[in-house]
Amino acid sequence: MKILIINAGSSSLKYQLMDMDSETVMAKGLCERIGIDGKFTYKPQIEGKAKIDAADVPMPTHAEAIKATLDALVDPQNGVIASMSEIGACGHRVLHGGMEFTQSCLVDDKCIAAIKKCFPLGPLHNPANLTGILACQDVMPGVPQIAVFDTAFHQTMPEKAYIYALPYEYFEKYQCRRYGFHGTSHRYIARHAAEFMGGDPAKLKIISCHLGNGSSLCAIDGGKCVDTSMGLTPLAGVPMGTRCGSVDPSVIKYICDQEGITYDDMDTIMNKKSGVLGVSGVSSDFRDLGDAAEQGNKRAQLALDIFHYEVAKTIGAYAAAMNGVDGIVFTAGIGENSPYTRAEICKYLGYLGAELDPELNALRGDNRYISTADSRVKLMVIPTNEELVIARDTVDIVNSL
Ligand code: ADP
Repeated sequence: MKILIINAGSSSLKYQLMDMDSETVMAKGLCERIGIDGKFTYKPQIEGKAKIDAADVPMPTHAEAIKATLDALVDPQNGVIASMSEIGACGHRVLHGGMEFTQSCLVDDKCIAAIKKCFPLGPLHNPANLTGILACQDVMPGVPQIAVFDTAFHQTMPEKAYIYALPYEYFEKYQCRRYGFHGTSHRYIARHAAEFMGGDPAKLKIISCHLGNGSSLCAIDGGKCVDTSMGLTPLAGVPMGTRCGSVDPSVIKYICDQEGITYDDMDTIMNKKSGVLGVSGVSSDFRDLGDAAEQGNKRAQLALDIFHYEVAKTIGAYAAAMNGVDGIVFTAGIGENSPYTRAEICKYLGYLGAELDPELNALRGDNRYISTADSRVKLMVIPTNEELVIARDTVDIVNSL
């Protein structure tokens, strides 16, 4: 079965076509500036087929973006399928499933109503995700649409991990609690780390460190999430590219009063102007920070130091939460590609019995150990693949219809 995977944002739409018989990517790309002037990229993964990188492709709405995608996929010369009927289903990434969704589901009226109910919890993403779903329904009538939620994997957390110490009525009235995000990535890591390590997955304690533009950690005990660092929204936890992560909540009132700005202004500052960008004043990109720090920029180095420290502290917290840890996995843009970041974080982990092998850490490649042979806790790099999780769920649900 061939599955079209869609990740729709407010003005962008990422897509990937996967052949699930071989679990390989046939084509992928990006529609940007939807509703503005439309930019379209298409990258076929089959030799001899040409890429597209075009500006000014009319895309007043997401529906035209989906149409442009389908046109490219079935193009007689550079397409990768003969007709749209080859697409068995679409899998959609949806940011927030609230408490409604503990797993992926077929999009029907009930599912759409539940996604809408979660709009207040994910005001920036959920409406855009739903727009992508509705556009696909419109352009591809009869093709099953499946919603896969970033929060679903974390729904196994115990109450003590997800209830905030606020008046309980806020949980009851507004479902104000920890949800956690990057769930599809952490779920991929949970499965593949257990497979890679061998042994009984039900007995493994794993800490998944998804370190990218947005970063979160997840404590996985016996394949199930028991805690995670993001919260009601993806702002909580470790500092990120532009997000501050967890700070004393009173900071908000204090800075609003000092600067004469509103809570909304402060929310934007904490989401878009904080994190390693805010501390360094240089960049949100870890490669830029590394370069600047090497050239002696002290605040770039400080931003990196804070990041490593906070990630290491969270690992310590999760080892405590699970009363032990067998494997620590690094994944996503930074986790997969930065030996420096991994080494700096691992400097804090000696007490756990986690010993990094510098030579293995310097190598590139797929799933691999980076700890020494006798390290008690295994350190691993496992490249994440959220699209594959979405596509697998989509196939499972379509097959069960
Ligand atoms: P997103 O959360 O947007 O999916 P990614 O997982 O792609 O983000 O991660 C993006 C981050 O990964 C950027 O900060 C980028 O600097 C960082 N990154 C990518 N390659 C490297 C590298 N070789 N060294 C350090 N950081 C890297």
